[in-house]
Amino acid sequence: MGPLIGVTVEPPNPAGDLRGAYSEAVVEADGVPILLPLGLDIPAFRRLFEGLDAILLTGGGDIAPEHYGERPSPALREVDPGRDLLEITLARWALERDKPILGICRGLQVINVALGGTLIQDIAAEVPGALPHDNPDTRGAEIAHRVEVEPGSALRGLARRANLETNSSHHQAVRRLAYGLAAVARSGDGIVEALEAPGHRYAVAVQWHPERLPGRPGSRALFAGLTRAAGRG
Ligand code: MN
Repeated sequence: MGPLIGVTVEPPNPAGDLRGAYSEAVVEADGVPILLPLGLDIPAFRRLFEGLDAILLTGGGDIAPEHYGERPSPALREVDPGRDLLEITLARWALERDKPILGICRGLQVINVALGGTLIQDIAAEVPGALPHDNPDTRGAEIAHRVEVEPGSALRGLARRANLETNSSHHQAVRRLAYGLAAVARSGDGIVEALEAPGHRYAVAVQWHPERLPGRPGSRALFAGLTRAAGRG
């Protein structure tokens, strides 16, 4: 059997069922997805965590800025305290225990905040001249921008390319990178588009949505890397 990949979820999304795409990508990579419920107490969640082979942190709303020592900006969008707590806890546990973890969009931001980094609360308001990272037309299968991938990074090894074309469905981004993380891809405006934790078995996060771009270079490799690192063989 394939490795068990815990996939975080959010309450039903009126914009459509995007959760299915994460699970499909895990199955495509020979993993077995398990959707992780919110609202469990920490001991129950720890029990669940122990049984998993890897973690997939998915996209979603904003992280409450109190988690990185800032007050909410007027451009902050919806937050979910329960989801913040569980995902930040999961990210810390995964890195402490060297359990493979893949962060997508919000998941990248969760990993950075969990390790002590900070976020730009709204790119459009805070970064003059930034590319449009939150255009409704380029959140799914359409390309929003290119990212340049750092030589020598795990992402570069997975994607086997110096540049990737990505979608973009985020209005926040990394401001200060947490200690222990490396920024391994940026868009032309300097926004961090991927990070990883060097020295870990597999701790990679991307700001775009590879599960919505299954045919693009690098997309399947991100999920395959996760399940390979999590493999029990
Ligand atoms: Mn972007």
